[in-house]
Amino acid sequence: MTQPPLQPIPVNEPLLDGDEKRLLIECIETGWISSEGPFVQRFEAAFAARVGRRHGIAVANGSVALDASVVALGIGAGDEVILPSFTIISCAAAIVRAGATPVVVDCDPLTWNMDVSAVEACITPRTKAIMAVHIYGLPTDMVALCALAEKHGLAIIEDAAEAHGQTCAGRPCGSFGALSTFSFYPNKHLTTGEGGMIVTDDDALAERCRSLRNLCFQPARRFVHEELGWNFRLTNLQAALGVAQLGRLDEFIARKRRMGARYAELLGDIPGLQLPLPSTEQADNHYWVFGIVIGPEHDLDAEAVMQQLSAHKIGSRPFFWPMHEQPVFHKMGLFPHASLPVAENIARRGFYLPSGLALTDTQMDRVAAVMHDIFKH
Ligand SMILES: *Cc1c(COP(=O)(O)O)cnc(C)c1O
Repeated sequence: MTQPPLQPIPVNEPLLDGDEKRLLIECIETGWISSEGPFVQRFEAAFAARVGRRHGIAVANGSVALDASVVALGIGAGDEVILPSFTIISCAAAIVRAGATPVVVDCDPLTWNMDVSAVEACITPRTKAIMAVHIYGLPTDMVALCALAEKHGLAIIEDAAEAHGQTCAGRPCGSFGALSTFSFYPNKHLTTGEGGMIVTDDDALAERCRSLRNLCFQPARRFVHEELGWNFRLTNLQAALGVAQLGRLDEFIARKRRMGARYAELLGDIPGLQLPLPSTEQADNHYWVFGIVIGPEHDLDAEAVMQQLSAHKIGSRPFFWPMHEQPVFHKMGLFPHASLPVAENIARRGFYLPSGLALTDTQMDRVAAVMHDIFKH
């Protein structure tokens, strides 16, 4: 008898088994599918309330939420923005596209978040803002960062794309920046397929973002433009998913925390693997993904381990590749001599396991068994 073929375990699979289908059908039946539909404002209001903000501006994805935020703050040529090197390209791209200069900081080897103690040394008279990014499930130290920003009169853009429902020192992630941004890509804690949100308490910034999202049409003379915007609108279909998903955020976070603890237990006896910190002084991990950094005692790097996982039909992803090592930025003459050893190391030795909300205990058991196999000597 041959074994039945192994089912692949995808790196991410979302959970869509609540009100999603019913609300989508409502869109179809009422004919409201564009960004003019009622779910968009409902989602904006509910999401802003969830992070304790006055305004929510729904946009097409988390990347353009950053583009609009940088421009809304009036950041442009001659300005510098400080950000972690260990993050997604969207952060640095938003700064570069606005004509400003990204200034990168290394990360903490245990939390993988920006080393906040290294930020002050990067501040120059040109610095306009700090872009903080919460990485992989633990928050950046926003208490220290806000104090620093205040001291130097800098704005904070908070990229909370991986931090729905997370807190820092008791305050919601997404409540710290002049503007804070979220993504609703399917691997985030809450998904609309594609989607994003900017939240703020500032009326003028909110208005700026709404205008930038909608091609800078003017209320009085619609097709006469004082400024260039984009079409970054979210559709009613996507917002319907968002409304359904938001109602389940606490349940989703509890589920991710349980998964994180379970992975930690299943993998904790493999020597030389650095697993995510369960908590810091400021928050309990909510395990956006379950990241692993392979210790120096192993000959394997992340690529080799991911190949072996793949041979067992287990999906995984490498860690971010640091901004200061991106060919695209080198070609622009950026970061010619930057050396940020922590980010460089975890980029090469870090990867994450299947971490989606639909992951089952049985799947986790199989992942853990294969990991033990890979790392046995
Ligand atoms: C996912 C993500 C984004 C981008 O969001 P998209 O919706 O995929 O464009 C931005 N920043 C961080 C930290 C992310 O994880």
